[in-house]
Amino acid sequence: MAKEIGIGVALAGVVFLAASGYDITLFLLLAIFGAAVWFIRSGAQLGKRFQIIGGNKQDQGNTKVSFEGIGGQEVAKRELLEALEFIVDSERSRKLGIRPLRGILLTGPPGTGKTLLAKAAANHTKSVFVASSGSEFIEMYAGVGAQRVRQLFSTARSSALREGRDSAMIFIDEIEVLGGKRGRHSSHLEYDQTLNQLLVEMDGINPYDDVRLLVMAATNRADLLDPALTRPGRFDRIVRVDLPDRQGRLHILEIHSKGKPFEDNVDLDEIARDTLGFSGAHLENLVNEAAILSMRKGKTTIGQDELREAIDKVIMGERLDRRPTEEEMNRIAHHEVGHGVVSEVLRPGSVSTITVMSRGQALGYTRHSQEEDYHLYTCSYLEEQIAILLAGSVAEELVFGSKSTGSSNDFEQALEISRKLISTGMSEAGIVSVDELPKQIYYETVSSILKAQEQRAGMILESKLSVLKEISAHIIETERIEGEDFRRMLGTEGTCMKAS
Ligand code: ATP
Repeated sequence: MAKEIGIGVALAGVVFLAASGYDITLFLLLAIFGAAVWFIRSGAQLGKRFQIIGGNKQDQGNTKVSFEGIGGQEVAKRELLEALEFIVDSERSRKLGIRPLRGILLTGPPGTGKTLLAKAAANHTKSVFVASSGSEFIEMYAGVGAQRVRQLFSTARSSALREGRDSAMIFIDEIEVLGGKRGRHSSHLEYDQTLNQLLVEMDGINPYDDVRLLVMAATNRADLLDPALTRPGRFDRIVRVDLPDRQGRLHILEIHSKGKPFEDNVDLDEIARDTLGFSGAHLENLVNEAAILSMRKGKTTIGQDELREAIDKVIMGERLDRRPTEEEMNRIAHHEVGHGVVSEVLRPGSVSTITVMSRGQALGYTRHSQEEDYHLYTCSYLEEQIAILLAGSVAEELVFGSKSTGSSNDFEQALEISRKLISTGMSEAGIVSVDELPKQIYYETVSSILKAQEQRAGMILESKLSVLKEISAHIIETERIEGEDFRRMLGTEGTCMKAS
């Protein structure tokens, strides 16, 4: 901003001098000289802006990334390997008259390994890897983004030639920043110009050039991309990089456990089962956190306890010293055990851990485990989920005669699931559009779903009231109880999770 003000003031000064009759030729010459120096310097800096791997100044750690070091993305890896065949065996694809790919788009949630896959692809094809991010192309000044796109492509070509390679891979992370739908940015046309330049550069890729270029891009929001980017001939191969399933999580855990001093009792399969929804980045962090916890305890090895605690740490955040009052603690314990009891009754074997330690925003937490990753949810599964969510507040009401603010997050989730039941036609309102449903009917349907599940949780907890109190008293002392011990106290040990 200071730069813009400076330029403005200097310009106003020059105009004032010219208007006052002074000779400004010298000023103009100086300004032209200054602009030329700035242009050359910024041009030189542009080359440095991009991360180049596979060149002389190699990032040794990154060049080692291979497909074997990426867990749980078998489909994505297979698709990529197939797509890369035209670089690896260009002669064969040329004979078959295959139009080689120009762009591959990797889409999926954050931390699932999109950047890793792109690096592994570059390694596999022995290409120079030039990485950039969508945000690097967005500037206030018109034309700068387009200039950077040109620079990116020419940097990729020149780096490959310098290194004696015949292929280069350009990786653009967060492509939605520069490749968003055109016309959406009302303030200026800079975004559109930058995207147009990218399209022009991609169209100009000739598979039979000295350096074969392949553009890989990653995004979490493929829906925001301009359709011109995803049309055939540009990013026409879209590879989904999803959250890993249980097997994939196990594989990623094994990859990140290599060389770590694990104790004999470590069961990574249990950790994989308990980390539904974790990305590769979460799992890498989990193993690292477990090592940090071991170090804090003065241990030289990492055990199952540290890995279990690391799951809580990754989900909930750092453990806090904040200790609730005795009364609050009593309530938190009954609330959490309430969730646990209903969960065990409805889905035997589902409780993994219950804690009443403050972590992040939470005062307590019940972690559930799931044998399988589901892709479809039935009405009864979702209703059970609501009953489990409401069980915390129901337990508080049963024992203390009142609810507390500690249930607000549970209620939000229960409301969200109720909405899902309605929008998927599984409620008594039938097959309806939630947006067009009159508010009163929506309210009544949600209310009836929630009431029914609240009653269901209430009946279960009333029948288990004495054991609920007993486990709550125990957990106040121990702060944490593992699933097996919980089931033993509840009298349901040995039951395994029902397949749904
Ligand atoms: P973002 O969308 O946020 O840019 P990303 O999908 O590109 O994320 P990466 O940068 O590739 O994710 O992954 C971050 C880190 O997470 C990696 O360095 C690695 O340690 C770990 N990781 C992620 N996915 C995997 C995986 N499938 N196998 C092994 N490690 C993984």
